[in-house]
Amino acid sequence: MSNKQKRFLLPEDEIPRYWYNIQADMKNKPLPPLNPRTKEPLKPEDLYPIFAEELCRQELNQTDAWIEIPEEVREMYKYYRSTPLVRAYGLEEALGTPAHIYFKNESVSPIGSHKLNSALAQAYYCKKEGVTNVTTETGAGQWGAALSYAAKVFGLEAAVYQVKISYEQKPYRRSIMQTFGAQVTPSPSMSTRAGKDILTRTPNHQGSLGTAISEAIELARTTPNCKYTLGSVLSHVTLHQTVIGLEAEKQMEMAGEYPDVVIGCFGGGSNFGGICFPFMRHTILEGKQTRYVAAEPNSCPKLTRGKFHYDYGDEAGYTPLLPMFTLGHNFAPANIHAGGLRYHGAGVIVSQLLKDKLMEAVDIPQLETFDAGCLFARAEGIIPAPESCHAIAAAIREANKCKETGEEKVILFNLSGHGLIDMSAYDQYLSGNLMNYSLEDEEIEKNLKDIELL
Ligand SMILES: *Cc1c(COP(=O)(O)O)cnc(C)c1O
Repeated sequence: MSNKQKRFLLPEDEIPRYWYNIQADMKNKPLPPLNPRTKEPLKPEDLYPIFAEELCRQELNQTDAWIEIPEEVREMYKYYRSTPLVRAYGLEEALGTPAHIYFKNESVSPIGSHKLNSALAQAYYCKKEGVTNVTTETGAGQWGAALSYAAKVFGLEAAVYQVKISYEQKPYRRSIMQTFGAQVTPSPSMSTRAGKDILTRTPNHQGSLGTAISEAIELARTTPNCKYTLGSVLSHVTLHQTVIGLEAEKQMEMAGEYPDVVIGCFGGGSNFGGICFPFMRHTILEGKQTRYVAAEPNSCPKLTRGKFHYDYGDEAGYTPLLPMFTLGHNFAPANIHAGGLRYHGAGVIVSQLLKDKLMEAVDIPQLETFDAGCLFARAEGIIPAPESCHAIAAAIREANKCKETGEEKVILFNLSGHGLIDMSAYDQYLSGNLMNYSLEDEEIEKNLKDIELL
């Protein structure tokens, strides 16, 4: 037996007691979200009708670097945290790279992804403020599953609008939500005005995160004691996800290493920010030379080919205007795209960091992500979520560069979730039915024109 340690775990009393708010340390703060009618910067009170009040304050907090994790939330984190930091010896060997590859395994949570880190916090604050019902949208269903479980934990009723095409194609996530007691409705539906309007314009609409967000927000606005929750994009969501990076920081210390590159897949930015920001703190405050790489699909390339502009967070234009890298709120990714990460915009914090070149982004073709996922599964024994495959593919690119140069770089990526409920996407890949799809510039420009007038 060699004495090479494979997994690094923290004892329960070292689960973080504070989340890290990078906004406090950023030299250039994110621009303010705007009220779409008055174009005035938003105040926390403006968001109170939609979100729990504490979450509104966290959203716009640019002064406190550390925000205490409520004891009740920390108690629930103990059900699955700390998550393991794993040295990917198997993957290193398969690649023949001198790089040291580590991954943080968020797939061990009860719902199989990082999303529970924020769902528990959001449900807790709702409960504390006397809310009885929570609502949200979900695409593939990971966020809906996380919220359904978190709502049950804190005694709330959950109503989830699921993108229609996913509702039909991914029945098991719906079953998971229903098992945890949530009510699930395919979107667009006839149960809201937003849904009716969309179906009137486009009777066969397959649904998108945008349509589902519009419906969930409308329900929250028109139902007493009901709040809306969101699983990505917003700054408070990314704040809660920093437990990932804060643990990883201590675990890397246990391994006696410090990352040269930190990588996360990128939908709205919450797992990427979650793993990166605690390390980026040392880059901002002490000038530590670490690279931060966001990996997005090349069929939804807001970071690499989108535009930094104020845009709506949803299709119907209910949300405030957010300053972000976006493909336009009317952008819909190609139907053949199986890998998740379909949202049109990026969170305001990551958008500012990308603009300031504190981080980088790469876009990855669909087939390369599944090639990477299968190689990882065979080498490490974990079938990754299709989303996480983007981070793995980016890590493999870095490791292959090290193979060429002979450098022993330390690469850390976040394994945001497992893919055991996404096997239909793997089936398509394994049977040769998945293709690469590249977006023409005209398709991107078409949707960006609409937001220039906002
Ligand atoms: C939701 C999800 C993502 C993308 O969301 P981010 O906010 O960008 O992290 C990535 N991986 C998994 C497994 C997810 O469920």
